[in-house]
Amino acid sequence: MHSNQYSITEVKQIINAGGNIVKEYTISLLFTDSRRINNAAEGLFFALSGRRNGHEFVAEAYVAGVRNFVVEHGPEFNLPEANFLIVADPLAAMQALAAHHRSKFNLQVIGITGSNGKTIVKEWLYQLLAADRNIVRNPKSYNSQIGVPLSVWQISSSNTLGIFEAGISTINEMDKLEAIIKPEIGVLTHIGTAHDEGFSNPREKVLEKLRLFKNCTKLIYNYDQLITYQADIKAKETFTWSRKFNQANLYVFSETTIAKNYYLRAHYQNQEIECLIPFSDQASIENAIVCWATMLALGYSAVEADKRIERLAPVSMRLELKNGINNCSVIDDSYNSDLQSLEIALNFLGQQNQHHKKTVILSDIYQSGLPQEVLYRQVAELIGGKKVDKFIGVGEALSSHQSYFNIDEQHFFKDTATMLQQLKQLDFKDETILIKGSRSFEFERISRALAQKAHETVMEINLNTLLGNLNFYKSKIKSGVKVMAMVKAFSYGSGTFEVANMLQYNKVDYLAVAYIDEGVALRQAGINLPVMVLNPEASAFDKLTEYKLEPVIYSFGLLDDFVRYALGCDILHYPVHIKVDTGMHRLGFENHEIETLCDMLEDNRYVRIQSVFSHLVASEAAKHDDFTKTQIKRFEKAFKEIEKTLGYKVIKHLCNTAGIIRWPSAQYDMVRLGIGLYGVDSAVPASETGLQPIATLKTSIAQVKKIPAADTISYGRSGKLARDGKIATVRIGYADGYLRAFGNGIGKMLVKGTLVPTVGNITMDMCMLDVSGLDVREGDEVIIFDEQHQRIEELAKQIGTIPYEILTNVSQRVKRVYFYE
Ligand SMILES: *Cc1c(COP(=O)(O)O)cnc(C)c1O
Repeated sequence: MHSNQYSITEVKQIINAGGNIVKEYTISLLFTDSRRINNAAEGLFFALSGRRNGHEFVAEAYVAGVRNFVVEHGPEFNLPEANFLIVADPLAAMQALAAHHRSKFNLQVIGITGSNGKTIVKEWLYQLLAADRNIVRNPKSYNSQIGVPLSVWQISSSNTLGIFEAGISTINEMDKLEAIIKPEIGVLTHIGTAHDEGFSNPREKVLEKLRLFKNCTKLIYNYDQLITYQADIKAKETFTWSRKFNQANLYVFSETTIAKNYYLRAHYQNQEIECLIPFSDQASIENAIVCWATMLALGYSAVEADKRIERLAPVSMRLELKNGINNCSVIDDSYNSDLQSLEIALNFLGQQNQHHKKTVILSDIYQSGLPQEVLYRQVAELIGGKKVDKFIGVGEALSSHQSYFNIDEQHFFKDTATMLQQLKQLDFKDETILIKGSRSFEFERISRALAQKAHETVMEINLNTLLGNLNFYKSKIKSGVKVMAMVKAFSYGSGTFEVANMLQYNKVDYLAVAYIDEGVALRQAGINLPVMVLNPEASAFDKLTEYKLEPVIYSFGLLDDFVRYALGCDILHYPVHIKVDTGMHRLGFENHEIETLCDMLEDNRYVRIQSVFSHLVASEAAKHDDFTKTQIKRFEKAFKEIEKTLGYKVIKHLCNTAGIIRWPSAQYDMVRLGIGLYGVDSAVPASETGLQPIATLKTSIAQVKKIPAADTISYGRSGKLARDGKIATVRIGYADGYLRAFGNGIGKMLVKGTLVPTVGNITMDMCMLDVSGLDVREGDEVIIFDEQHQRIEELAKQIGTIPYEILTNVSQRVKRVYFYE
C-alpha cells in the first residue's frame, strides 16, 4: 500500500485492458471497497462482483475522490476526468497486476498454506525473523483471491523477505494464488476438515493446497500428516518433521508440559536438541513446531531457534470493543502495530457512531521497512483522513515527528509510563478511543486504565460472525428484497449500538425494536437507519417523532391516538407501519377489520403507510405448513385492499428468520431477520446453513473445595456428590441469567475441555460444579455456551425452552465485549 507507483497507462498495459485514458494519473493504492478509501487520488478501484456488484459502488468511490477504475463495462459511467479500464474480469486483472508487481522484486518469499494455523504461523515467523529481515506479509488473514493480491501489492524495494499465507475453499484456486505469491520456500500447516465441502474428498483438497508449492525449492511439512494422503511432493528439497518417524529431519521424541509451557526434545542432524514453547494447547504446540522446523530449515542454529521460540507472543487478530470509564468506548488493539492493521482499526473506529468524539492512542511503529519520515508522514495522512478529534502519540519517534500531525487536539509522550501519569489531564469523556500499540509499549496498561473493570462473567460477541450470518441470509433472499434486522431486547441480548453500528455499516435497510426507548437509544448512539417500533406507547409519541422513529399501528385505538397526536403537533404524512393479524392473535388488525381500517386511512393526511406486515406463527414447522399457507392468503388479501385504498405501493413483509428459507415465495419486499443474525435457525440444521452463534458466555472459578460424599451442597441441602470428590464454585447465578432450572445436574459447563454438571441449587450470583477428578484451579475459565462445545440450542434443550429465551435472559449485569477481526 505504499511506495509502489505505476502510471495508469502502465497499469492499462499490464492488465491488458480496453477503454481510453482521458487523463494521466499515478496509482499506488488498490481499492475494492468503496467504504474503505483513503488517499483516493492515488487509488485504483476494482469493481469486483461478489455478493454485491462492485459496479454499483463506482459512483460512491468517485465521490470519495477516486478517478481510476477497472470495470467490466464502462461507458455508462459518465464521470469527468475519470479513467475506465475495461476488462472481462476485474478480479483476474487485480491478480495480474499484483503478479506483475511481485515479479519486479527478487526478495525471498515464504508461502504458507494448510487448513488451520496459517495466520498464527505467519505472524510467529514474522516475530521470529523480524530481527534479521525486513519483512512484508499479509495484513491479518488476507489470504483469499482478493486478500493475496492486496497483500503482495505491498512489497517494496526495502523488503528482504515476504511471508504470505494462501487460503482456498475449492479446487482450481491455488494456481492463481501461486502465480501471485511465487514462493520459493513452502510451509504446510495443520491439515484438518475445514472446507472439506468444497472438494470431492480430503485428498483432493490436500493436493490442491500443495499446488502452492509446485515451484518451491524447499518445502517444510509434517511427515505424519502428509503420508496419509499419498501426495507426491514436487519441491527439490524437503524438510520434514514428525512425532512418529525417526527418519524425519526433525524428529520430536519427547513432549512434557511444564506449568504453562511445553518442553520438546528432538533429533536433528544426529544431535539431540530442545525447545521450550510458551504455550500448552495442542494447536499452539503444533504451530510452534512448524515454526521451529522452518527456522532450522532456514539455517538457524538449534540454540538460536529455541531462544527465539521461547519468547513467542500470542497473536491476536481481533479488535476488542468494550465499555470504558466516563462513558467512553474503548477499542483495544494493543498487541501489534503496523500501517495495514492501523488502517483496519481506524476503519472500525470510523464505523462507531456512539460518541461524537473519536480518539486514537498510537505507539511508534516498528519494522515497517520504511524510513521514519516516510512512515510517519503516511501515519499522519492516514489519521488526518479519518475524522479523528484527539490524537495521542506515544514514543520517541512519533514525538520527534509531531510536526506532521495536524489534529485539533494532539499530545505526544516519550513513553507509556509518562502518558499514564498524565491520564487525568487528558480528560477522557464520552469518546470512542482506539488503543493501538506495538507490543513492547505495553499498551495493555493503558487499556486497563481506560476500560471499565469487566467483572469476571462476560458475554463475548463476535461481530465478524454476525456479519457472516447476515451475508448468509442475504444470499438466500431474492434480489431487491430488503432486510429489516430485529434488534429488539438489546439485539436478543447481544448489545445495542455495537450490533446496530455493524448492521448499519453493512447496509441493512431497516431496524426494528420493541419499544420507543430502545429506538431513542439507537438514535443517541448515532444510528440513522429507519427504525420501526413494534410496540409504541402513546405516552411517548413526542420522543417517537423527535427521534424519527416509525410506529407500528396495530389497532384502531392506536391509530386514533397517533392521528390525534399528529393533528396537535401539525405533523403530516408521518411514516407508519400497519400490522395485520393473520393468525398469531397477539397484535394487529384482523381481516374483517381491514375494510374499516381502509376507510380510516383513505385521504388521511397525517400518516403515510410505509409498510404492511404480518407475522408467521410457525414458519419453521412442517406440520403447520397448511396454516402458514392460510396466513399467506390472509396477508395477501389484506395488503391488496390496503394498497388499493391508498393508491400507492407499500413495503410488504411477512417472513421471520425461519420463513426466509422455508417460504421464499413469501419474501415479498422485505424480510425480518431476527434470531438467524445471532446464529440460530430452527428450521434448518446448523450444519447446512453454516450459521454460527455470535455469543460466548463465560465466567471463572472462584473457589475449589474437596467435599466428602456425606456432605450436602447449596441451599436446601439440594446437592450431593456420588463419592468423595471436588466442586468448583463459579461466578454466575440466576441473577446473571443462568436460571435455577439448570441446577442439580441439569445444566453443564465446560471446564478445561470437559463438560461437567452443576451440583445443588443455582444461587443468585454463584453456582457449583462437580469437578471431581479434574485438575482445576481458582481463576480457571468456565464456558457456559459457545459456538463449539455447547451451543445455546443445547442449553435450551436441557431446560425445555427455546434459544431465544436463553439469549435474552443473560442479564445486563454481565458485561458484553465485542470482537472484530
Ligand atoms: C421478533 C420478531 C421477528 C423476528 O423473528 P425471528 O424468529 O427471531 O427471526 C420478526 N417479526 C416480528 C414481528 C417479531 O416480533
